Amino acid sequence: MELGQGILVGHWVTLRRFLLTFWRDLRTGKAIHRRGGGHMLIDLWGSPRSRADTPVVQQDFKTDGLFTVEYPDERLPVYERFRVLPVLLYDTEDGNVRCTSCNICAKVCPPQCIWMSQAKGPKGNVLPLPEEFFIDMDVCMNCGLCSEYCPFDAIKMDQNFELSNYERHQTHIYSLQDLLVSTEYYAKTHPEAWSSPEEVAERNKVAKKKDQRLQKALGATAAPAKPAPQPAKA
Ligand code: SF4
Ligand code: SF4
Repeated sequence: MELGQGILVGHWVTLRRFLLTFWRDLRTGKAIHRRGGGHMLIDLWGSPRSRADTPVVQQDFKTDGLFTVEYPDERLPVYERFRVLPVLLYDTEDGNVRCTSCNICAKVCPPQCIWMSQAKGPKGNVLPLPEEFFIDMDVCMNCGLCSEYCPFDAIKMDQNFELSNYERHQTHIYSLQDLLVSTEYYAKTHPEAWSSPEEVAERNKVAKKKDQRLQKALGATAAPAKPAPQPAKA
């Protein structure tokens, strides 16, 4: 390649992409509905507020043009397997929290950012439920190992990535209440996984297993206390 030819080719590629972006929008009529930014002449017709009301994605993987998404007014679709922080599931039908507080996820978590305590029955015996459950979101590296190893299908990876705020000490430690989501929510965000034969079989298996453990623990709670051994008579 001649000296300087590479620079010219690079510029041509950039220019071509730039022009194609506007050509595609004009060809599909989407330029009229473009939201956010306000840099296009057509945007002058709408108020900034109304422009931001309808998030749209102008560009997808088929786009032949610039790859700029005007976040947060525009959002790229999130794929089902995209994962951020874990969440804990409770069953929509009966509100049962699936976690048994077995501690396996905490043990396998590479940066050790999960900790919990087990719930106790009235007689002080341990119940297969978490009393407290915490994840430090600043430490979690989104590896998904907790979800892979959970024997009760109770912890799953979520797709919500908009987690930033202005306080980075208290609010970045997620408690049980912050982490709980319904199975309905999970089914909506992970339709393919939720309806897969493997997940359905696993769900049925763990529901039975968890129910047995809970009944056993509650049975132990309800059982009458054994009389304390009497001292031998002199
Ligand atoms: S591995 Fe599953 S059931 Fe065990 S404590 Fe973690 S989330 Fe709960
Ligand atoms: S995703 Fe990985 S780092 Fe985050 S809590 Fe689960 S095991 Fe730990």
